[in-house]
Parts: sequence; structure tokens; C-alpha cells
Amino acid sequence: MLSIRNLVKVYPGPVTALQGVDLDVATGMFGLLGPNGAGKSTLMKIVAGLLEPTSGEVTLDAVDVVRNPEAVRPHLGYLPQDFGFYPHLTGESMLLFLLKLKGVDAAQGQKRLVADLLERVNLAFAAKRKVKGYSGGMRQRLGIAQAIAGNPKLIIVDEPTAGLDPEERHRFYRLLGELAQDRTVLLSTHIVEDVSTLCPRFAVIRDGKLVALTSPTEARASIAGAIFEGTVDAVELTQLKRTRRVTQAILYEGRNRVRIHEPNGTPPPGFEPVKETLEDAYLVLMQGAARAVSNGASGNDGKFNRLSAVGEVRP
Ligand code: ADP
Repeated sequence: MLSIRNLVKVYPGPVTALQGVDLDVATGMFGLLGPNGAGKSTLMKIVAGLLEPTSGEVTLDAVDVVRNPEAVRPHLGYLPQDFGFYPHLTGESMLLFLLKLKGVDAAQGQKRLVADLLERVNLAFAAKRKVKGYSGGMRQRLGIAQAIAGNPKLIIVDEPTAGLDPEERHRFYRLLGELAQDRTVLLSTHIVEDVSTLCPRFAVIRDGKLVALTSPTEARASIAGAIFEGTVDAVELTQLKRTRRVTQAILYEGRNRVRIHEPNGTPPPGFEPVKETLEDAYLVLMQGAARAVSNGASGNDGKFNRLSAVGEVRP
């Protein structure tokens, strides 16, 4: 079990990246969803024992990650957002190099371990190819290969699907899903689809605070029947943004296809009820959190919004 208590990180500046995060994560896949700048990477680096928090506690199975990162590191695999590879090395040599750096024990020899890991992430076919010729998805799978070396009980993956094409993304989802069967995988992302595809539980982070702890099903249920869609011109869109809760406005065939969240009242003329998505729930929640901040509230008394509260934060 990973436990995070009242975690605060203030960078020089000062920039407050985390404002008191509390979170417990059990075995399986757990998502941390939030926009750029929300504090996801900061949280991931602290959990990985690579960055000291300003205050607060992180424990992995009761071992203190902050005070004793060396004790936790062998049980932890980390795929950072900006994983650096040496492009002129082959996949095999790169992985061997990374395993040596990590100091992973290999009972049957490191070459054998490299071969097994490449097999596991479906890269055996490219073992002798230079990394510079790898696609984005292949690089990410190589990154996962080093993260799972040593069979860690916690794997931290920071924004792993950004920049992958849809096919690569789905292949990567499958790999992460398999890994989460018998360990904890903490996945940070700004992509809602990552969460809806993979995560039975997830937290939403914004401005260094957790604003929800929920499941995709629960999140969608909280806005069921309250999402409406219609097509409007630019002037109408401006008007709608003033009077309604617009969750999405997408250009479609040159016009604005707009989704609004209308939990109580009637939708504007021409708007039809549509099936709610996790993206809608996320956007409604982010708007609620933004309003809470601009109203001077700390976002539900500093506690999680368990998403039952979506729609309760009124303008
Ligand atoms: P995310 O991963 O969600 O995009 P980050 O954790 O990278 O968010 O950043 C959270 C906030 O902390 C942002 O405002 C970012 O600009 C700031 N930040 C991140 N790293 C540093 C740093 N080394 N020094 C100062 N500010 C930083």
C-alpha cells in the first residue's frame, strides 16, 4: 500500500506545486489525472524518492520513502516523462546499461534478463536495432522494460501515452494492464482516455490539490442525464459561455458543436440530451474546482470532492 499524507512541495520562486495531498493507493492501476502544471510530475518524483518534499509523508508498505529512499528504490520502477535514451545504442545494449545503472540483481545473468524483459514488452524483434529507429511506442515499452526489472511492487509511469499514435497507445494500455494485475501501477496523465481505458480508481489533481477521488463509472453517473449537445454559431457560443456551463466546444464541419452541463434546468432550444462521457465529468469537475478557487474556497474544505458533489458547486 502506498500512503501519501499532507504532501507539500514549494519550489524556489516560490511556486507551490503541491498543497497538502493525501492519498492511499492499493494494488492495481490507479490514475492521477490533471492538466499540465497541476503537480503530477512533482508528486511522481517525490513518490519515486527522487525529489524531497517541503513537508509531508510518503510510505510504501510502511517504509518511509522520504527519509529512506534507498530502502524503497529496489521495490520501485519509474518511467519518467522525459526518459533519456542513447539513440546510437541498440535496444538490448541500452537496457543492459540501464539495468547496470539500476543495480538490478540477475540470477541468470544480465543478458538473459535483458532478453526476458524485451520479450515481456514485446520488443524482442527489435533487440538489435538502434533506439534512434524506434517509434515512440517502442521507446516507451523499452522504458517500461527497465521499470519492471527487479519485479518492483510499485511502478510509476508519468504521462506515458503522450505523443503515441492510437495503435501504439492501445498496445501500451495492454502492457500496463497486464503489469497492474499483481502490483500497484501509478499512472499520471492529462489524457482522459488513459483513465477510462485503464483505471478502476483515479484521483483528479488541479493546482497541487486533489479535487476528486473516484471511479470512471461513479464519475459518469454523477452527471447522468445532465449533458446536452447542440450546434451554434460563434455569437451564440459567446452568449452560452456567459449563461451556461459549457463543458466542450468543438469545431465540426465549420460550426461549433457544444456540450453543456445542465443538472437542474432545461437545456437551450435545439439542444438534445446525450450520453455522458468521462471527459464531460472531468471538465465539469475542473470547472467546479476553478470556481471554488475563484470564490476563495479551498475546494471542498481542503477535502476530496468524491464526485457525488459534481454539480453542487454552483456559479
Ligand atoms: P504536471 O506534471 O502536472 O504538468 P508539474 O509537477 O511539472 O506539473 O509542475 C507543477 C508546478 O510546479 C508548475 O507550476 C510548474 O511550473 C512548477 N514546477 C515544476 N518543476 C519546477 C521547478 N524545478 N522549479 C520551479 N517550479 C517548478
